[in-house]
Order: sequence, then C-alpha cells, then structure tokens
Amino acid sequence: MIFVYFGRQYTVTARGMAWRKQTCEECGGTFHYPAVFEAEGSAESPYLLNNAGARATAKRRAAAAVAWAVATLPVAVPCRHCGWFQRAMVPTFRAMLWPELGRVGGPLAGVGLGLAVFALALTYSGDPAAGPTPAHYPWIIGLSGAAGVAGVGMLVARTLKQWNFDPNRDLPRRLRLRMAEVSCLTAEEFTAAQAGEDDRPTAGWGP
Ligand SMILES: [Zn+2]
Repeated sequence: MIFVYFGRQYTVTARGMAWRKQTCEECGGTFHYPAVFEAEGSAESPYLLNNAGARATAKRRAAAAVAWAVATLPVAVPCRHCGWFQRAMVPTFRAMLWPELGRVGGPLAGVGLGLAVFALALTYSGDPAAGPTPAHYPWIIGLSGAAGVAGVGMLVARTLKQWNFDPNRDLPRRLRLRMAEVSCLTAEEFTAAQAGEDDRPTAGWGP
C-alpha cells in the first residue's frame, strides 16, 4: 500500500508598526520613532481539508509574531535633537554594519568547511579493500578548507569591525542629525501627527 501525502502550506506576511517614545540620555530631549517590522506565519492544510482554517492560522501566527517584534525588538535611531545614539541602541546599529561580509563569509565558511570535513571523512574512513583514495582528494580538502577558513576570517573581521565602531564617535554629527530627521519626530511633531488621521500608526496585511 502506498501512502501519498499532499497538503498546502499557507504563508502570510504581516507588517506592523508602533510608535516608541525615547528620552535622550545625552541631551534630555524627547522624541518619537516608529518601530516597523514584518513577520511571517505559516500553517499547513493536510490533504487540502482545511484551507480556510490553515489560512486563518497562518494569519494569526503572523500577527502574533509581528506584534511581538513591534513590542520587543530593538531599533536604532539617533536623537532628533542632538544626534546621539542611545547606548542601548548601539549594538543594534552595529549589527547592521558590513552585511556583505556576513552574506559572503557565512556560506563560504559553512560550505568550505563542510566539504573539507566530508572529504576528510571519506579519506580516512574508507574501506581499505576499496583501494587507495583518489589522488585529487587532498586538493579538495586543501582548497575547500582554505575557502572555509577565509569565510571564518570574514566573519571574525566583521565582528571586530563592529565592536570597534561607535556611531557617536565615527559618524559626523551632521549625518546623525540628518538620519534622525528622516526617522524620528519631535514631541511637537508627534502630537501634530496624532491629530491628523492620516499619520496615525497603522498595521496592515502583506500579500
Ligand atoms: Zn539628544
């Protein structure tokens, strides 16, 4: 007897946004900034028996995940008045820097080291009766090992660069103020925005 399983996976993306209020540790000024996040929720409809239910569950999971993100996850923005990044926000800002080193270094380290270990294992756990290991194996081990080490080096370099980066020291104040202008509201601007219907924080469903 053959069992055939089929089903449909529903994935829903939800976007959410909430305003947060911050009093600057540097200048004492107050500003507001939006925390905007996206999250996915998914659910399976086995044998297509419960499509509507799975869709509703996916939606509910996405909504719960985005609500958690909006309430909890850190956001890094400079003070609207003085351009200072609050100390608690600095790690979040650092984590966004040099993403290309992570995008290249991570897969390179994983694939390179994985392949090297795999080839090593084949070399040393092979059945002696099967004959000698093919001559190109040391090359595979050497090259993939070197690529893996290079990948690890990129990840380490990224971490060190991030540790040594202080946005309050390394970014010009003018640039930080410009960043604040596009990402934060002063208390007055926030009150004015709240008075207008169109500018109220909203949460919506994605495709
Ligand atoms: Zn400030």
